[in-house]
Amino acid sequence: MAIQIYINGEYFDRDAAKVSVFDHGFLYGDGIFEGIRVYEGNVFLLDDHLKRLEYSAKAIMLDMPWSREEVAEAVCETCRRSGVTNGYIRLIVTRGSGYLGLSPKNCSNPQLIIIADQIQLYPKEIYEKGMKIITAPTRRNSPAALPPMVKSLNYLNNILAKIEAVELGYQEAIMLNQEGYVAECTGDNIFIMQGDKLFTPPVSSGSLTGITRQVAIDIAQDMGIPVVETNLTRYDLWVAEEMFLTGTAAEVIAVVEVDHRKIGDGKPGIMTNHFLKAFRKKVTEDGTKL
Ligand code: PMP
Repeated sequence: MAIQIYINGEYFDRDAAKVSVFDHGFLYGDGIFEGIRVYEGNVFLLDDHLKRLEYSAKAIMLDMPWSREEVAEAVCETCRRSGVTNGYIRLIVTRGSGYLGLSPKNCSNPQLIIIADQIQLYPKEIYEKGMKIITAPTRRNSPAALPPMVKSLNYLNNILAKIEAVELGYQEAIMLNQEGYVAECTGDNIFIMQGDKLFTPPVSSGSLTGITRQVAIDIAQDMGIPVVETNLTRYDLWVAEEMFLTGTAAEVIAVVEVDHRKIGDGKPGIMTNHFLKAFRKKVTEDGTKL
């Protein structure tokens, strides 16, 4: 079944789905997006994603003329028409087309684009054996410049960090903030287990308010594990007993080596595996049915 792409109320085949070259989303990265998962016909935490989208829109003063219900229905209908019951949904809102200048004043027609397709971010083996990561030289955007909570179409600084990792043969990289504290990875939030507590950097350190991050925090609370949101250094990561990453595309993934230092015994940790299991259970339960 061929996928159908939604653009402002209409559905298009893959090759026919197009936006204007004058769209400021294209010209300047002036727009926002969400990555959402659908598992066995359940759009996982759709409402949370749409809420974050609305916050991103508000932060960049982009007026979205659609209600949350309309967007939710468009997401579900795109999945249905595309025959996607297990997959990944990319929801994009651009400022719309305008003049060549920076000012968004002449952009009158924001575009809502929804794509539902398959995804396999990392090979299966990585989910079983865990991932090795490094710290990237490129720092995360300063919250004083562009709040990293805004999931904007500007991903260049994360892309630079990703390139730095990939060039060295790694698939993910830790990004530090301006002060040298850990912010997150290029497309995932980061957690460590140390002495029966779960630690993660606060969002104010320069990370995205990850939906999967919140799921991990909820799981920890269900399991009675104290969660500490605090500044973490590279040293804290190097000596962690366990480590894992969270993200919509990556899901929950164990980290077994950081900057050439083995984490724990170099295998996915026991608690990490508990998180993975609890996460798997939630993905078909919490959300919106197609
Ligand atoms: N940080 C960044 C920079 C991201 O792009 C993402 C999403 N891929 C995440 C963290 C994880 O967020 P979520 O769990 O909402 O997908």
